[in-house]
Amino acid sequence: EDEGNPKLGHVAPGSVSRFRELTADDAMGRPMKKKLRVWCRRHDDHWESGQIKSNSGEKALVLLLDGSAVTVPTQDLLPANPHILDEVDDLAQLSYLNEPSVLHNLQYRYSQDIIYSKAGPVLLAVNPFKSVQMYGDDIVTAYRKNLLDSPHVYATADAAYKAMIADEENQSIIISGESGAGKTETAKIAMQYLAALGGGGDVIESKIMQTSCILEAFGNAKTARNNNSSRFGKLIEIHFSAAGKICGAKIQTCKHASNGQSRVIQLAPGERSYHIFYQLCSGAPSGLRGRLRLRVASEYNYLNQSECLEIPNIDDAQKFHDLMGALDSIRICKEDQEHAFEMVAAVLWLGNISFLVTDNQKHIEVVSDEAVTNAAALMGCIEQDLILTLSTRRVRAGKDEVTKSLTLEQAIATRDALAKFIYVSLFDWLVEKINLSLSKGKDNMGCSVSILDMCGFESLKKNSFEQFCINYANERLQQHLNQHLVKHEQEEYELDGIDWKKVDFEDNQECIDLFEKKPIGLMPILDELSNLPKATDLTFSAKLKHHLSNNPCFQGERGGTFRIRHHAGEVLYDTEKFLEKNRDPIHSEIIELLASCTGRLPQSFAPQLKQSQSLDSASVQSGMPVCKKQSVATAFKGQLVKLIQHLESTKQYFICCIRPNSKQIPGAFEKDIALEQLRCCGILQVVRISKSGYPAQMTHQEFIRRYVSLLGETKDCQDPLSLSIAILQKFGILPEMYQVGYTKLYFRKGQIDVLEDVRKQVV
Ligand code: ADP
Ligand code: MG
Repeated sequence: EDEGNPKLGHVAPGSVSRFRELTADDAMGRPMKKKLRVWCRRHDDHWESGQIKSNSGEKALVLLLDGSAVTVPTQDLLPANPHILDEVDDLAQLSYLNEPSVLHNLQYRYSQDIIYSKAGPVLLAVNPFKSVQMYGDDIVTAYRKNLLDSPHVYATADAAYKAMIADEENQSIIISGESGAGKTETAKIAMQYLAALGGGGDVIESKIMQTSCILEAFGNAKTARNNNSSRFGKLIEIHFSAAGKICGAKIQTCKHASNGQSRVIQLAPGERSYHIFYQLCSGAPSGLRGRLRLRVASEYNYLNQSECLEIPNIDDAQKFHDLMGALDSIRICKEDQEHAFEMVAAVLWLGNISFLVTDNQKHIEVVSDEAVTNAAALMGCIEQDLILTLSTRRVRAGKDEVTKSLTLEQAIATRDALAKFIYVSLFDWLVEKINLSLSKGKDNMGCSVSILDMCGFESLKKNSFEQFCINYANERLQQHLNQHLVKHEQEEYELDGIDWKKVDFEDNQECIDLFEKKPIGLMPILDELSNLPKATDLTFSAKLKHHLSNNPCFQGERGGTFRIRHHAGEVLYDTEKFLEKNRDPIHSEIIELLASCTGRLPQSFAPQLKQSQSLDSASVQSGMPVCKKQSVATAFKGQLVKLIQHLESTKQYFICCIRPNSKQIPGAFEKDIALEQLRCCGILQVVRISKSGYPAQMTHQEFIRRYVSLLGETKDCQDPLSLSIAILQKFGILPEMYQVGYTKLYFRKGQIDVLEDVRKQVV
């Protein structure tokens, strides 16, 4: 361990190259000197700043900021950075890279409304939850003209745009962070910057900006964490002409994992369904309202169940007005708009359909009221067909087919499946329309900048199939980031002409294998059992336990649960409904009903499925004919692989968004919440990789400006490089402790402090 933290002057030659930054903690093996500024652990993750008064080796007496003195074990101390490093805009400039130091830096900046910082090559964005004076034409101009270079989304977008023009290469900006962290806003800010640079006064850039309004209406909802939470992952590819002008865009969504479908039919208290439902109910003009047979939101079961119909400070009617403007601007004709709204209203009426239990619980009947009539009318199907679909099922008995009445539970499930299917198909249809409207001309030869707004790692109280998919995606993206950073850093060091041995970094391949490996990875086993009609969630968890127990990233638990060690932390998953959610069955009756509709949209929803699916014989035997399709997990993986392949073919930029508190309020920086997210995005590791043994980096000029006075006398003619070396030699910084690059000096951990100590005495 000690090799990793060489004490000054006690370093064995040759050992430095094996410097292990990644797993070593700053405190270990380090002699804590008197007067040293430290972080002192008070409890758990709570650290206070102080200064060492005396140190017996095992224990130290520390003077805290409030004037009190405490005696603590030295393992509860971490070195703090010298004051000159307060507020650095890149965490990589910190001499001591430990969690309290990083948090201190970010909090300090946040308190001054500086929400952007760098963590090596990654941009960190801490959500301000209020408007900050950092955007607008003047600031765009300043970044475009390189008058400003402090960390900013603009700076990232600027780098991408300029590299695209200079290298004629596709670029992408990858935005991560948990729900409510600010990903979608950040993506919009990046798009605004690109629109400003690449806008030719053409309508296309304003059309692209309008897509956010549409996708948010149909794809976002109020959740406990975010009043405007996107329930799908999105990649928007903005195309530019060879002259650098925007000429089109393409949107890809990735929504199976984001728990999207179930929100249509089921809400947690205090949450809402997708915005469009409320917008339509409160904003539809009277003609449309009549044609859609609309009521107020509180009359619909799918909406009123959570007792949350409004969002503070949001006017749904106004939003509906904006939405119609956006639909017009991307040229979705009035007729198509009305068809789309018909589907939204049909979903609401479906939710109001109720059932009567007759015949000693054996049979159910659909209550014949306005809900069925209206739903059927909006879908354009015969009312009786809808009733039959919701209350009966054909079952094969020998060679014949007989019709069987559904139980109440089955009938409700069928109704909800129909509602979800219509909504999901509507969303896909909209994305397709948007893409048609934004598509670039065929003869375009330019490049693109893509922006990825992806759901972040999730660890909830109860984690289900959705978290399983999201966290798998994050595992893949993290691997992608790690590989990218190591490569990036290597190139950087080589360019500056310094020796660099490849650092090992925490590889998460093992966890990815746990998910993917055939035939005994989590996903292959899930798919295998999803195809067996008799398999249950419990046989699934038992099989996982049986096959995967040797895997260090996996642990089987009691009661159908299992644990995965993700790069971002352990997550306990509950297998309840895993198989069903992975199968996501659609009964052939539902497809037939949609195909029989006279409405253009429902009809177009049906065949998509029909082509790719055939009757699943296993399920037919079990009395439940359903359409067989690719499992949800496999389809999700396919989308993800495609997405990552796209990213790999581009030059990449990373932005990590941080949610500084859980109340969506400005000004509050809760360290434990921020820390958890920094750990989840592996930020410390990112910085460590990026520093790879040379934590402090300074240009020759910076170095001389600060330390030349220590030399006493200098000859004027000395060049920066030899001046730097003269300073280093005079203060006994060993050659193993630094490297000299063409532009910068690179220091091992703690070396700047030695110089700072001397400087304090001299100045
Ligand atoms: P995510 O997409 O990560 O779930 P959002 O981008 O929807 O999060 O952000 C949640 C909320 O935080 C926004 O509705 C907005 O109120 C606020 N917010 C995020 N980023 C900014 C920003 N740069 N400036 C001002 N407010 C912001
Ligand atoms: Mg979002």
